[in-house]
Amino acid sequence: MKAEIIAVGTELLLGNILNTNAQYLSQELALLGYDVYYQSVVGDNFVRVKDCITQAINRSDAVIITGGLGPTPDDLSKEAAAAALGLELFEDEASLKQIENVFKKSGRTMADSNRKQAMFPKENCVIFPNSNGTAPGCAMTAENGSVVILMPGVPYEMKLMFETHAKPFLKRKSDKVIVSTNVHVAGLGESYLTSLIPGFLDQTDPTVSPYCKPGQVTLRVTSSAKTVEEATEKCQDTVNKLTSKLGKNVYGINTPNLETVVVQKLMQHGLKLATAESCTAGKISAAITSVAGASGVFDFGASTYSNEMKQKLLGVRADTLKAFGAVSAETACQMSEGIRKYAGSDLGLSVTGVAGPGQSENKPAGLVYISLSNGEHTWVEKLMVVKAENDREKVRNNTVTAALDLVRRYLDYLPDTLPCETDPESPTPIIPEQFATSMLNK
Ligand code: ATP
Ligand code: MG
Repeated sequence: MKAEIIAVGTELLLGNILNTNAQYLSQELALLGYDVYYQSVVGDNFVRVKDCITQAINRSDAVIITGGLGPTPDDLSKEAAAAALGLELFEDEASLKQIENVFKKSGRTMADSNRKQAMFPKENCVIFPNSNGTAPGCAMTAENGSVVILMPGVPYEMKLMFETHAKPFLKRKSDKVIVSTNVHVAGLGESYLTSLIPGFLDQTDPTVSPYCKPGQVTLRVTSSAKTVEEATEKCQDTVNKLTSKLGKNVYGINTPNLETVVVQKLMQHGLKLATAESCTAGKISAAITSVAGASGVFDFGASTYSNEMKQKLLGVRADTLKAFGAVSAETACQMSEGIRKYAGSDLGLSVTGVAGPGQSENKPAGLVYISLSNGEHTWVEKLMVVKAENDREKVRNNTVTAALDLVRRYLDYLPDTLPCETDPESPTPIIPEQFATSMLNK
């Protein structure tokens, strides 16, 4: 089934308000199994609204219109829709009573102009009462079978009407449901990831579409079928194939985000984490504590930006800083073990890197060391988290993801140590454990 959305309102065209109704409706229609092929915005002009509707019913099975159901002369969506469908409007007694009641309840008298909100075609029309405002909506059916749904522009009125009236109406008309499953992947760039799953992005049912966030990619697997169960089963087969190809880099299926996964896994293992952040200066602890219940697994996070604080708080040695610099594997290891000891936690996580723009210590922007210590072993990863040098926020955000994912992999693969697919485009070599542990003493 093909659907399209028309938002009516000059203020939308002027950019005074954002078309949030279309965003909401697109998502809801997809869940109902409708393919949304067009979204339009048209001003409060009878001819243009009518033309827009005429074009829409010729190419779509369902046309969803919001706005222009009010009492003023510039509210003309219903009149334009009726004209486009060749239907005449009559006063509907039940609707008029309902509108009068809304006024009675609030102790106001109804203006004459509100009468037009009770006008509907006598045939080929189902009226949707409005329990949140005065303007009822409706579904008009065109001669060719296409349906035009009219709802108020005010988002909370529209959403309630959609939920209670339009959705069941559209569900009955739809011949399928759409189900999506999200596979969340960390540590692989989009192009390298794509090369690992040849053919998947060209599949038609289920489809696989990649969406990027800093340092991560979500693969949305979408299928349609007659029932939710059937569509879910079709998705599952592709999800299984993807996870077996991307295995260790998959951090979750349909999970809200990486920080939630990390907090949940720390809870499962009964472990507490402490963080020492240089180049991200608090972004990792902010991500962890954005998850409800984080206090059970996180006690302390330090932003040790200066060398002085790295030494004072974390016990990083002056000769290490002098010999290797603040951005080095050696410093990262001493930071993670230092914060673990200071906080008395099970795990210490540290990051130190060059956020940029430009070099520091003769090292390029984007060079980052991330270290994890459990008191027995210390691991460190050296990463180039960006390809271009001058995106400071990207360096910091990608570092947060990489650091959280190091903890995730540690927890996922216990008692083994941190296996990971390496991305040749953005090398993520893991410095061998023995080497890393020995760095503590440097
Ligand atoms: P009213 O009875 O208030 O006139 P209406 O159905 O005629 O309702 P509009 O006049 O088009 O609706 O819009 C009313 C208000 O709803 C707008 O001022 C705006 O704040 C909001 N609105 C309208 N359309 C949208 C939209 N597409 N996305 C988000 N908000 C919208
Ligand atoms: Mg209006």
